[in-house]
Amino acid sequence: MSSSVAQPTIFSRIIAREIPATIVAETERIIAFLDIAPKAPVHVVVTTKDPQYQNVVELAAGNPTLLAELVAVAEQIAAERTNGQFRLVFNTGAAAGQTVFHVHAHVLGSPEASDQLG
Ligand code: IMP
Repeated sequence: MSSSVAQPTIFSRIIAREIPATIVAETERIIAFLDIAPKAPVHVVVTTKDPQYQNVVELAAGNPTLLAELVAVAEQIAAERTNGQFRLVFNTGAAAGQTVFHVHAHVLGSPEASDQLG
């Protein structure tokens, strides 16, 4: 289900450069920035510039090409910043820990070869 009534979130304000963020990758339709509260040595949020999809299920149904772009950017970030092993997390729903209802992936990893991430 695609939501056309999604409200702007804090990510829209980052995309608009209304609030600061450390942007690490950007394409025409995708932007990635360091998470403000990192849960791993590498923790990057990758999101769509379009705020209309609230979660990955909506994005997959409404624009799978854009989802593939998001994953490609996430993979590129992981290749540049991690040891090649990483978690790609889409929290989906408040009960699952989603706090920002603007579809995004978390890239979680470490540059250190020895680090194990649970
Ligand atoms: P969620 O809990 O899966 O929705 O992920 C939202 C993420 O956005 C959390 O990991 C937050 O730490 C992160 N976050 C919230 N506000 C900001 C911000 O202003 N800059 C960067 N990351 C943020």
